[in-house]
Amino acid sequence: MQSKSSPKIVVIGGGIAGLSLAAAVAGWADVTVLERETHLGYHASGRSAALFTETYGNRLVRALTLASRQAIVGGGFVAHRRGALHVGWSGDDAAIDRLAGELQALVPSVRRMSAAELNALVPVIAAEATCGGVYEPDAVDVDTGKMLAASASALKAGGGVIRTGEDVRAISRNGSAFEVETAAAVYPADIVVNAAGAWVDLVAAMAGLSGLGFQPKRRTAFLFDAPAGADISGWPLVVDLHEQFYFKPDAGRLIGSLADETDTEPCDAWPEDIDVAIAVDRIEQATSMRIGRPSTPWAGLRTFAPDRTPVAGFDPRLPGFFWLGGQGGYGFQVSLTLARLSAALMRGAPLPADITALGVSAAALAPDRFLVPAATP
Ligand SMILES: Cc1cc2nc3c(=O)[nH]c(=O)nc-3n(C[C@H](O)[C@H](O)[C@H](O)COP(=O)(O)OP(=O)(O)OC[C@H]3O[C@@H](n4cnc5c(N)ncnc54)[C@H](O)[C@@H]3O)c2cc1C
Repeated sequence: MQSKSSPKIVVIGGGIAGLSLAAAVAGWADVTVLERETHLGYHASGRSAALFTETYGNRLVRALTLASRQAIVGGGFVAHRRGALHVGWSGDDAAIDRLAGELQALVPSVRRMSAAELNALVPVIAAEATCGGVYEPDAVDVDTGKMLAASASALKAGGGVIRTGEDVRAISRNGSAFEVETAAAVYPADIVVNAAGAWVDLVAAMAGLSGLGFQPKRRTAFLFDAPAGADISGWPLVVDLHEQFYFKPDAGRLIGSLADETDTEPCDAWPEDIDVAIAVDRIEQATSMRIGRPSTPWAGLRTFAPDRTPVAGFDPRLPGFFWLGGQGGYGFQVSLTLARLSAALMRGAPLPADITALGVSAAALAPDRFLVPAATP
C-alpha cells in the first residue's frame, strides 16, 4: 500500500492496456484509472477473438507474447487449448513450407500439416481443396473478461481507484506535475499514462503533443451455428494463409471474421453489412459450411503504430507523459508483459531479465522511434 510520498499516476483508458499497467504499479504508486465509458473494456478490449498465439505479429510482438505465456497460464486465464491452423490452397505449397520453417524456428511445437491431416482435424475443409497447413498446437483461448477483472481487482487491492464515466478533456502542467481534467474533477499526477486505445493520438494532443501516427483499423466478426451433427470442440482457429478470413469455435458456435483492416477514425465501431456478407461468402467458398444468416455481428478497432509494434515509454518532449498504445490485434497476448516492462521504466528499474532475454529493449518500444530529432544548428 502506498504512502503519502508515493508518485501519483493517472491512467487514461480502462481497456486491458491501461488496467494491466495500473495493476502492475499499484503496489508502489497512487493510481487512478479514468475511463470515459460507464464500464471497463467497452471498446477493443470487449470485442476481441481472445486468442493467444505465439506465432502472430512481427518479431517484437512474438517476443512480447512469448514473455506473457507464464503469466497467462499461471494467472488461470487459459479458457481452452485451442490451437491455430494456417491453411494453404492450391499453389500455396511453397508459401506453407516457408511459413512452417519460419514459425518452427520460433515455436518448436509448430508443424507442417498435410492435406489429409488437415481434413481429419477440420473436416469441412476438403483434402482436395487444400495443400495442407501450418499448425500451432499450443495456441490457447484466453478468458478476456477474467483478465480485465483480475487487473481491476489487483489495482483496487493495491489501493488504486477506477473512475468510469469520466472523459478526460484537458491535460495541463502545474509546475512539475500534471492536472488531468474531466467534467467531474481535476486529478493531479506526476505521471500520466496514455492508454486510450484508438484515441491515443487525440489524448496526446490534449497535452500539446503531436501524435505518433497511430491508425485504428476496423475488424468485423460475427457468430454462426456449427454444421448439424459436427463436433467442433476440437477445431483450432482456422485462418486463411492470405488472411482473407478466419473462424474458430466459441461456446458451441463459431466466430467468423473477414480479418479486415479498414482504416477508421477513433469511434464506437460498428460492422458494415457488406463486410459480414463478404466474410460469409469466403468461408462458404473455402469450406462445406453453409452459414446462412450469421448472428450478433460486431466490429472493433485494432490500433497500430506505423511499424505495427506497440509503443511503451516516456515521451522525451514532455517529462512524465507515458505512451502505452498500438496493441493492434495482440492486446491480450502482450498486455501483461507490457505492463511489467512499463512499470520498470516508470520506476527507473532495469527491464525484467526474462523480457530482455527475448530480444526486447526499451528503445525498440520507445515513442522516440517516431520522433524526428531536432535539427542541430
Ligand atoms: C475483432 C477483434 C479481434 C481481436 N482479437 C484478438 C485476439 O485474438 N487476441 C488478442 O490478444 N487481441 C485481439 N484483439 C486486439 C485487442 O482487443 C486490443 O489490442 C486491445 O483490446 C487494446 O486494448 P487497449 O486498452 O489499448 O484499448 P481499448 O480496449 O480500446 O481501451 C482504451 C480505452 O480508452 C478510453 N478512452 C479513450 N479516450 C479517453 C478519454 N479522453 N478519457 C477517458 N477514457 C478514454 C476508451 O473509452 C477505451 O475504453 C482483437 C481486436 C478486435 C477488434
